Amino acid sequence: MNFIQTRGIDESRPATVTFSEAILAPIASFGGLYVPETLPELGKEFLEKHLNSSYKELAKDMLNRFEIDIDSAVIDEALALYDKFDDKNNPVPVVKVKENLYISELYHGPTRAFKDMALQPFGVVLSSIAQKRGENYLILAATSGDTGPAALETFKNRANVQVACLYPDGGTSDVQRLQMVTEDAANLKVIGIHGVFDDAQNALKQLLASESFNAALKKKNVSLSAANSVNFGRIIFQIIYHIHSYLELVRQDGITMGEKVYLNVPSGNFGNALGGYYASKMCVPVEKIIISSNENNVLTKLIKTGKYDLRDCAVMGTTSPAMDILKSSNIERILFDMFGPERTRELMQNLEEKNFYELNADELAQLQKHFDADFCKGHEGKGYIKDTFEDDKYLMDPHTATCMKSYETCCDPKIKTIAYSTAEWTKFSPIIANALSGEIDVKDIEALESISKIASLPIPDMVKGLFTKEVTQSTVIDKEDIEKEILNFI
Ligand SMILES: *Cc1c(COP(=O)(O)O)cnc(C)c1O
Repeated sequence: MNFIQTRGIDESRPATVTFSEAILAPIASFGGLYVPETLPELGKEFLEKHLNSSYKELAKDMLNRFEIDIDSAVIDEALALYDKFDDKNNPVPVVKVKENLYISELYHGPTRAFKDMALQPFGVVLSSIAQKRGENYLILAATSGDTGPAALETFKNRANVQVACLYPDGGTSDVQRLQMVTEDAANLKVIGIHGVFDDAQNALKQLLASESFNAALKKKNVSLSAANSVNFGRIIFQIIYHIHSYLELVRQDGITMGEKVYLNVPSGNFGNALGGYYASKMCVPVEKIIISSNENNVLTKLIKTGKYDLRDCAVMGTTSPAMDILKSSNIERILFDMFGPERTRELMQNLEEKNFYELNADELAQLQKHFDADFCKGHEGKGYIKDTFEDDKYLMDPHTATCMKSYETCCDPKIKTIAYSTAEWTKFSPIIANALSGEIDVKDIEALESISKIASLPIPDMVKGLFTKEVTQSTVIDKEDIEKEILNFI
């Protein structure tokens, strides 16, 4: 299958590219993105066929239907990484929390957040393409805390790929920072920046545009690639778990085959929700996809009013930092799917130039046929964490908690909901400890111990071990010195 471009085609690029090409250079004509030319039509037959399949069997068949230019053995190697999740036979447990609410847990991988679902297999795929072509790639990542650890973990010691990961020193949780600075492999470089996440992200953008930097890379025979969620190589792995979760509800007798469900997704860059949208177009019977946000509620406003408005808008720090995003990249793929390339280009250009676009009434109606949305404030989220723990004996993280608000405000209780849990409690423990017992200003290690006691849950070894592991990546520098530091590394 080939990939086409969301904003139409310019003169300088081929009209279609292969999956490998879309992965290596994910930005398309006019700054657009790559999308599959068509989606495989799987239908009810596919669901019935996989009712008793393992996660990997389902994944393999779905990937095959995309007919991507990746060797079958490479796909097997990539999918084998799900064997390292907590339960080899069930990498994505789906737990019944209320009569009509199920939570699909996407955080059972090595870095305890849902980024592993896509980045784990993606690392194998990207490295294998680079090896096959005899090329070397540098992945630059700026992280607010979850993408960095997951990217480092997946590319650790992989051939033909190096990673330089920028994080704001003091701007992540202790667990997130330790996951990065204790990574010990010659192809990884972790760099703390004096500043906040935006500083790290802006530094990365400047670097990508820097002539001296690009010339120096060329001299060393290194090309740049990106592992962020605009890369379709990540999206493709995020369709699978939506299909799996639906089948899991059928298996648990929560629904009968064919019955519609809500998918409720804590959203930032919209990669997770986009996977759900594609799954619904391919085979999953979906009533609506519910987009849950925090105080950075641009997506709620878009879906409720048709306006994407970033004028007089600044990112707010919240208790669900992985969703502190205003420019939600993957919305573009929805615009393309619904309205085509010309309109997508027009809307995205408006957003870039005027920080604003507005859908017309027909377009908004079409968007609302598939999506609904609400946002949840920090104190509300803490309330949901406490109540769900006390009433339903289920412990959730602050990102997952944003779904509880929209579950109440957007969903018909007669229809079952699958909400997605995107992080384990261990990753955001100070906020959760505060929600459960009111304690404030505790460090991660104290919060972990206190929650562990309250909830009678063990702290996973991979989290506990971080606090005694040797710090091997101690670089913390000013923004001005990043270029030099990275060139020294490669
Ligand atoms: C990345 C992330 C999200 C947002 O996912 P998107 O695919 O960007 O919408 C939500 N929760 C957590 C914990 C994350 O790490």
